[in-house]
Amino acid sequence: MSAGVLLHEVSKSFGAARTPALTGVTLAVADGSCTAILGPSGSGKSTILRVIAGLDEVSGGTVHVDGVDVAGVPSEQRGIGLVFQRPLLFPHLSVLDNVAFSHRVGGASRAGSRRHAQHYLDLVQLGGFGGRPIQALSGGQEQRVAIARALAAAPRVLLLDEPFSALDPALREDMHLLLDDVRSALSPTIILVTHDREEAAAVADRIAVIHNGALLQHDTVDRIYHRPASTRVSRLMGGLN
Ligand code: ADP
Ligand code: MG
Repeated sequence: MSAGVLLHEVSKSFGAARTPALTGVTLAVADGSCTAILGPSGSGKSTILRVIAGLDEVSGGTVHVDGVDVAGVPSEQRGIGLVFQRPLLFPHLSVLDNVAFSHRVGGASRAGSRRHAQHYLDLVQLGGFGGRPIQALSGGQEQRVAIARALAAAPRVLLLDEPFSALDPALREDMHLLLDDVRSALSPTIILVTHDREEAAAVADRIAVIHNGALLQHDTVDRIYHRPASTRVSRLMGGLN
């Protein structure tokens, strides 16, 4: 089993007699690569991330992270960093201590964790902001802190659920450059859920198109646009909102 993330025939239903959120999704994201998941609202994008992260258990099928079947493995032991649309930061901690938090949980000293955190704050270009309170940050800065915090735990896999959708277009472009920097510096395997086709094309190696809980196509950006596997894919790529 290779590194990266591998879903095999994954299904997920919530409760009884409901339309399944995921049906037989098989998806391989190679180690160090970036796949963007595109699809309409309610198509199962977040559910894919949640079953990889262990926030939801699968109803059927298997999930491998870095070659390990993670069934029953607690979320915090899966080596995964998560960033959501709205950053969940600790309002009572400074910027630096927010980033240092996950390292502290690992048992490191306060000074060691702060040095470690400073490195990731530098990476997201907030090196001078460590002493500030969270409340003093803009939305884009908060999102960068959330990314630094996720990275500080040294995850092999980074899962991003519409992380930039609340930001204005100029800031979103900065975030795309930041992801490039993160990829060059750390080479995590990245799965990015987005509504934004241009964002997917700008940052990802591959796009996974999902509709009604089914994966329609997972392919290079170029092939998704020029060799869509079905009219549904071309329609979704032409008319996502
Ligand atoms: P997306 O992220 O693509 O908008 P989701 O993965 O959040 O879609 O949801 C996929 C489907 O699963 C939707 O129909 C949604 O209502 C349903 N769903 C997601 N989470 C839950 C839950 N905790 N309980 C019940 N239904 C859920
Ligand atoms: Mg979602």
